[in-house]
Amino acid sequence: MNEKKELILAKYGEIALKGLNRSTFEDILMKNIRRRLRMVGKFSVTKAQSTIYIEGKDETADIDAAMEQMKRIFGIAALCRARACEKNFEAIAALATECLEDTLLSARTFKVTAKRADKAFPMKSPEICMELGAVLLDAYPHLEVDVHNPEVVVTVEIRDTHAYIHGESIKGAGGLPVGSGGKALLLLSGGIDSPVAGYRMARRGIHISAIHYVSPPYTSDRAQLKVEALCQKMTAYCGNIAFFCVPFTELQEEIKRHCPEEYFTIIMRRLMMEIAQRIAEQDKCSALITGESIGQVASQTMEGITCTDAVSRIPVLRPLIGLDKTEIIESAREIDTFDISTLPYEDCCTVFTPRHPRVRPRLADVEAAQNQFDFTPLIEKAVAETTMKVFKVGGEIVL
Ligand code: ATP
Ligand code: MG
Repeated sequence: MNEKKELILAKYGEIALKGLNRSTFEDILMKNIRRRLRMVGKFSVTKAQSTIYIEGKDETADIDAAMEQMKRIFGIAALCRARACEKNFEAIAALATECLEDTLLSARTFKVTAKRADKAFPMKSPEICMELGAVLLDAYPHLEVDVHNPEVVVTVEIRDTHAYIHGESIKGAGGLPVGSGGKALLLLSGGIDSPVAGYRMARRGIHISAIHYVSPPYTSDRAQLKVEALCQKMTAYCGNIAFFCVPFTELQEEIKRHCPEEYFTIIMRRLMMEIAQRIAEQDKCSALITGESIGQVASQTMEGITCTDAVSRIPVLRPLIGLDKTEIIESAREIDTFDISTLPYEDCCTVFTPRHPRVRPRLADVEAAQNQFDFTPLIEKAVAETTMKVFKVGGEIVL
């Protein structure tokens, strides 16, 4: 290890609570980190004692860019930039004085905390805090100690091979490593909700694929580009995403031709579900995800959901089900999908919308309405004509 050189320490949150299969979660997290950091230079990624150490290997390693990437990797609870030194108090005092100069000069109050993972270190934690506090007060006489509300917390960690010094740590993305929970297929529209739904499930460790339905000429190329841009944006948190695009025009036209208008939307959603399951099976996804939330529109009532769930043989995850629109918008802004979602392009859901959709549809009535036409051949055709492309982390957004 090159002492003095800055490194990143990542602490995991929920994984630390895992029992026997903890190492599986750790391995997936390490793999995700390595894959992500490859874009920003050569780094070594190692783990010890519930902490991941990220060190640049050569001059290609951009630590600022690495930190930006690390903030978006699920499974990490906290991150800090640290420096390492030998495990003796003189080295620790010298390093803390030197490497935290900027931070300490711009603060008025501080405190020191110490974590002694290596119990063989001769000083106990309170002693390290006292002694180092005194050294820093000497070096920076404008400072005062405030143990309750300090502006800066100087942390010393005494670990296996080295001591580490850092100032503030920042919050990580939380959740569980993407991939640790299997894979699910997100029904991705161009709206505000579904990207947030995908983000939420990825945060719980689910690897996301996305499916989108287009109805040209009723929907434009721009509408599809917008959804692809959303997909590209989502890779920053979700990792690479396989994107399936389903030609949906004929199905919508046949619904219009054969079914009562009040059931257009609910039948359309049932056909979307049917197609999604078939793609899910091909793509080895074990659940579907939608951006629905109770009460938002006519098809998002409990009765509406009963009618769409009735055609699904795999679970339909609806992470936004109990959220207000304002809360969803807040999330969309945080993950930076809001501005793309609010671009004004038509979604196929707004094609042939009934003037008076049934708000509380009965399943038997919907089934009877749908049975007036055999949609199976067109469903099979739509699945066969579905195209796929993969959006990769770091790819360019085209709009
Ligand atoms: P969103 O903001 O996600 O578009 P919404 O409030 O507009 O949601 P709906 O249009 O009723 O709600 O759609 C509900 C859900 O159905 C969406 O969250 C999404 O998961 C799915 N969905 C709707 N339209 C499409 C589409 N064209 N392609 C794929 N999925 C879609
Ligand atoms: Mg929508």
